[in-house]
Order: sequence, then C-alpha cells, then structure tokens
Amino acid sequence: MLVSVMAARRALLLLVSLLLAGALTLAGLSFQQQGTPLPVASLQAEPADARPAVQRLADGLATLDPAGPIAQSVAADLERVEAATADLRHLQPAATVSTDFLDQPQLRDLFVQIFDRDYLPEERETDQRLLVTLGLLRPDQDIVREWLDLYQEQVIGLYDSDTKKLYVVADASPLGPEARVTFSHEYVHALQDQHFSLATVAPKHPDNQDRSLAVHALIEGDATLSMAIYATRQLTTDELAQLGQSGETSHLAQTPLVLRAELLFPYDDGLRLVRQLYSRGGFGAVDQAFADPPQSTEQVLHPEKYDQREAPEPVELPDLGPTAGDEWQVLSSNTLGELYLRVLIEQYSTPATARVAAAGWGGDRWELLTRGEQTALVLRTVWDTERDAQEFFSAYAQGLQARFGPQAQAERSADQVRLRAPGYWISVRQHARGVDVAIAPDAGTGERLDEWMSQSADLRFESAE
Ligand SMILES: [Zn+2]
Repeated sequence: MLVSVMAARRALLLLVSLLLAGALTLAGLSFQQQGTPLPVASLQAEPADARPAVQRLADGLATLDPAGPIAQSVAADLERVEAATADLRHLQPAATVSTDFLDQPQLRDLFVQIFDRDYLPEERETDQRLLVTLGLLRPDQDIVREWLDLYQEQVIGLYDSDTKKLYVVADASPLGPEARVTFSHEYVHALQDQHFSLATVAPKHPDNQDRSLAVHALIEGDATLSMAIYATRQLTTDELAQLGQSGETSHLAQTPLVLRAELLFPYDDGLRLVRQLYSRGGFGAVDQAFADPPQSTEQVLHPEKYDQREAPEPVELPDLGPTAGDEWQVLSSNTLGELYLRVLIEQYSTPATARVAAAGWGGDRWELLTRGEQTALVLRTVWDTERDAQEFFSAYAQGLQARFGPQAQAERSADQVRLRAPGYWISVRQHARGVDVAIAPDAGTGERLDEWMSQSADLRFESAE
C-alpha cells in the first residue's frame, strides 16, 4: 500500500529536442544578431506566433529521403558534430554513442515502446484521473494519446538513457543543418549522462514530480543552450537561415494547456535558468548545478530562489481512505508545485492572474482516492505569507466558478468556498498560510474530507507560528 501511495505521477520526462523550442531558440539567436529581442517561448505564448519559423523547419525535414543505413560520409559528419559539441560544452566523451535515424512513424513506434517500458499502468490511471478531476483534461481526452500525438508532432530527437542510444528524426543522408543541430542537442544528453549519471540526477517514477520537472529543466536548458551555441559557431549564415524554417504545430495548438506547459517548461524556463548560470560562470557553473540541482519548479521559474536555495516546505498527508469512507482507497500521492498550480489557475483565467496567484508557493501535496470509477482528491498547499495564500484561494475559487459556470451552486465566506455542480462537491479552505482543496463526487464523501481539512488545518501552523 505504501508503495502505491508513493507512486509517481508520471515517469516520462523524456530527453528530447523539440521542433518548436529548438526553432524558437535558434530563430531567437539569429534574429538577436540583427538587434531584435530574443522571442523565447513562454508558458502563455501562442504556438501560432512561431508558426512561420517552425513551418519552415518541418518542410526542410520533410524533403529529405527515407531513412537508410548510415553512410561513411554521414558517420564522419557525426564525428565532427560530436567533437565540436564536446569541445564547446567542455565535457569529453567517456564512451561512444550509437545513433539511429528515424522517420515520423518510426518515432511514434519508439515512443510507444518507451511508454510500455516506463509509463506504468497506475501512473497512466493517476494522470488521467488527476487531470480530469482538476479540470485540466476533458473526460473524453486520453492522456496517453495526447502525449503520443504531441511527441510525434514536436519531437525531432531523443536520447534514451536506459539504452544509451540516440535518435534523430531525419534521413541519414545528407545530414542537413537541422539534423546536425538536433544531433548536437542529443549528444549533450549523452555527455551529461556519462558525467552526471542522468538516472541518478533524474530518477524514474519520482515521489516528487515537481522536483523531477525542475531537474529536467536543468538538463534540457543545458542541452538547448549548448545546441544554440553549436549552431551559431558551426553553421554558415545560409544554414542558420534555413533553421526553424518550418514545422507542424497543429496538434500543439489544440493540446491541453497542462501538457503544452509541461512540454515547453524545460526548454523555456529551463533555458532561462541555465543561461543565467552560464553568463556568470560558464559551463563550470552549469556542471555545479548538476551536483546541486533546483529542488522545485519555483526555483526554475524564479532563478533568484534557486540562488538562495529557497527550499520547498514539506507537506504531508495521511492515508485518507478511511476518512473518505467505505471502499475509498488511495491511488497515489505527489506534489503539484508552482508550475502546475499556475496552470490550474491559467486554465480558467489569464496568464497574468495565474502568475500572481501561484507565486509565493511554499509547498504542497495531493492525494488521489478512488472508489471504483469514482475519484476524489485532497490538495494541501502552504504559502510564504498569508497574503500569498489569500491570492491563491481567491483565484482558485474564481477559477472554479468559471469552470462550472451557471451549473454551480456556491456558498462563499471570507475563508471558505463550497461549490456543488453535477458530479462534483468541492470545498476550498484558507487557514493562515494554508489553502486546502477537497474535490469529491458526492456530498457525503466531500463533507467527510472537508471535516478532516477543517480539523487538521487548526493544528497545521500552531507549532510554527
Ligand atoms: Zn533534450
């Protein structure tokens, strides 16, 4: 039971190159040389903004011939990219890395294999139930299919730290600038793995998904910065101009906000963090960060909090199965973190409101309970100040109103909101620096969880304040 309570929310933080993120980074660097500001994708950026650049990159890939065995000349090309990448990243290879070139259908097959290996059935069930219960995924959307569609559309390279193999979506011959840049990015992951052991730095099936995402941001931020440096140093002006010239973003534009945010975060906010480290101490400072990685998405979203090592506050929940009532069982428990809480607000308001509401995060823990097909959720959060807690409380309560609309019947006081909607009984409570949320399918279960929240909230900050 304990093992199942501690199960990860999601195992699949894949080490990939993204069409969109890569194109934006490289487009940004080349535009910057002409004096235009760097248009790095942000959480709330509309993918359509990048369409022209991304479109050009995909067209370039599409014109290549079908995959075949690696020719002698290509092997020599790869060696040159490896040498240049190891040199600029100041990490020498400790082993050779085998490379496969894939087309899009082969890439999807590879993802299906990796999902079968790493995305455990209880993790899939947890993700599906959690995101639907939070209103971040519609019940008719399937989490596995959404991820596969998104990866197939957006991923152009992959490093598998289990098999130590590297994959690039391109034809092996001739090796165009996009393929060389993508290969350089993935080769950085191989170097990271050889020097810092990625399985140790970023273990699978994490007990703290928020910390795992933060480490992933360091890993991808490093590979993306290195890739950009490779491109500016090794490609001709004409080749640079060919980069980011095309791409398909149709699925990205339609994909649920939460998946888009999780996909882009390591390349966007992670790159920002790594750029800051690099600007102060070069790749030596980045290497040091692998020994002492960010502990939370909060530290990545606000690099000054990484500088200060503002540690997350531990939040614990007991097994709430007996509290919820007969037949309720805990499926899993984990941490949302500032990034996910931001998405939770943004889904039903605006990016600006969400940024303010999720800032000042101190820590959180959620527990997902099931009774057959039914799902209940308790989320316990703690904030830096009472004001931060108040901001989250208000924004989340407003978000619930927006989510359920006129169907919802709400009772509201200064520190509690109770909301009923078809199939939902929800309570949100603020107490001092804490905000608790219970989401249940029926009033009986909801009231029992709410009673527990009310009683335990009084004890929460007594010793500390
Ligand atoms: Zn990567």
